Amino acid sequence: MTQERERIRRRLIDEIGRIDKQAPFAVGLAYPSPYATGMSSLGYQRIYRAIQESNGFCAERLFLDDAGVQSSAPLSYESLRPLSDFPVVAFSVAYELELAGLIKMLDGSGVPVRRQERTDRDPLIIAGGPLTFSNPSPLAGMVDAIIMGEAEQLTIDALRLVEACSSRQGQLDALASLPHVFVPTHHTLLPPVAAADNVMLPAWAPIRTPHTEFSNMFLIETERGCSRGCAYCVMRRSTNGGMRIAPMERVLELIPQDAKRVGLVGAAVSDHPKIVDIVNALADRGCEVGLSSLRPDRLSDAFVGALKRAGYRTLTTAMDGTSERVRDLLDRRARPKHLLKAAEMARLHQMDRLKLYLMVGVPGETDEDIDECVAFVTELSRIVPVALGIAPFCSKRNTPLDLQPYAGIDVVDARLARLRRGLRGRADVRSTSAKWAWVEYVLAQGGEAEGLAVIDAVRNGGTFAAYRRAFDALGHAGKPTVVKPPRRALPLLAV
Ligand code: SF4
Repeated sequence: MTQERERIRRRLIDEIGRIDKQAPFAVGLAYPSPYATGMSSLGYQRIYRAIQESNGFCAERLFLDDAGVQSSAPLSYESLRPLSDFPVVAFSVAYELELAGLIKMLDGSGVPVRRQERTDRDPLIIAGGPLTFSNPSPLAGMVDAIIMGEAEQLTIDALRLVEACSSRQGQLDALASLPHVFVPTHHTLLPPVAAADNVMLPAWAPIRTPHTEFSNMFLIETERGCSRGCAYCVMRRSTNGGMRIAPMERVLELIPQDAKRVGLVGAAVSDHPKIVDIVNALADRGCEVGLSSLRPDRLSDAFVGALKRAGYRTLTTAMDGTSERVRDLLDRRARPKHLLKAAEMARLHQMDRLKLYLMVGVPGETDEDIDECVAFVTELSRIVPVALGIAPFCSKRNTPLDLQPYAGIDVVDARLARLRRGLRGRADVRSTSAKWAWVEYVLAQGGEAEGLAVIDAVRNGGTFAAYRRAFDALGHAGKPTVVKPPRRALPLLAV
């Protein structure tokens, strides 16, 4: 515990831009992953800023401990208060596997994880974040309310209602009256996601810190949403009206003059009509720039040249599917000619390598698709060194590929082995785990019961075997190869 206090103290000293504030109503703003991950989240920092800028409220940040174990109570960074002391704790949850972190933080605090076991003496637990765009139903047995979608204004509205009520029941009744807020005791259907008013855009992160992967990087949104329609993606054009662009001038004026590293964030950053100008303007200021997404069909000579000026050494973009046929199934615009041009541009601008993200285990994929991938990546590797970053496909709610089964752990592992064999000595091939992708899949398609099963899995060690046992007990039994979508899932609005 003393070590943790010391770690917090040192991290606070190194932060730039923190908004120090005290207020009558302190909200625990929790992130169910360690500090380095939480502070790299623009959404989390946006809500922090929204609370700090609101009269009467202040935010105190809480994170999962660095080891991901949480054997003691998480302490707030601002006042070293334990999580259980706050009247309200708001969690930002990015994706399915972070449920475990939320459970560990509540367990470590002595706060009942199941919402029905909490009383007026316990904090009200609210969740929001990127997971609400797909399927937050597994949270429904643990949290008291879920704020769906873009939450910068809605969070404050919810806090004002909660502050005005003296009992938990009154707070739940009040929250249930808000649009876009799901209260499990009151609702059976998840409401649609909220869209923040355009005047709230762009989001930017007030705090810079050296203790994240984006060390001392100023994070700012250049656009929100996407105008494209990739079949697996929850941020596709049908979500919240597509892409909203932040004007270049506004983006540039918000970036502090002393920021030497800038992260441009958004679902489709490279689709911003002025992206080359923005990157060049920042390079002129002497900034290093990172972009959260680069579409291969946008990679012109001028764009890659600007990225090189702004410190890029690896050109990272998406190949998405293993073959042309699979990319067509996914409704992707990336073509071999775009990827070949990306490789040429990376070589021309003397980048160290081309890094390509893709999925394996897409419905309908076969070994022939893997072989096409091997042949094509071999061709690219003759132009520039290539690295592949692979994730097994997991179908998500609110996408056209919702309800598609998981390809299977054995199948995914076999395809990865085939890829690695074919590309040995020609490309670096790295993948996330096929087993944990299955866990993610069960939760992405699951409901309250699957979420509650994670409590058992976490308390039984949090290994894959523990998850497997917990899900098997719900009827996901036998081989974890093909899982039928559970019927207990709360229905979501269709896209
Ligand atoms: S994968 Fe990227 S380009 Fe495709 S819809 Fe999603 S955000 Fe847009």
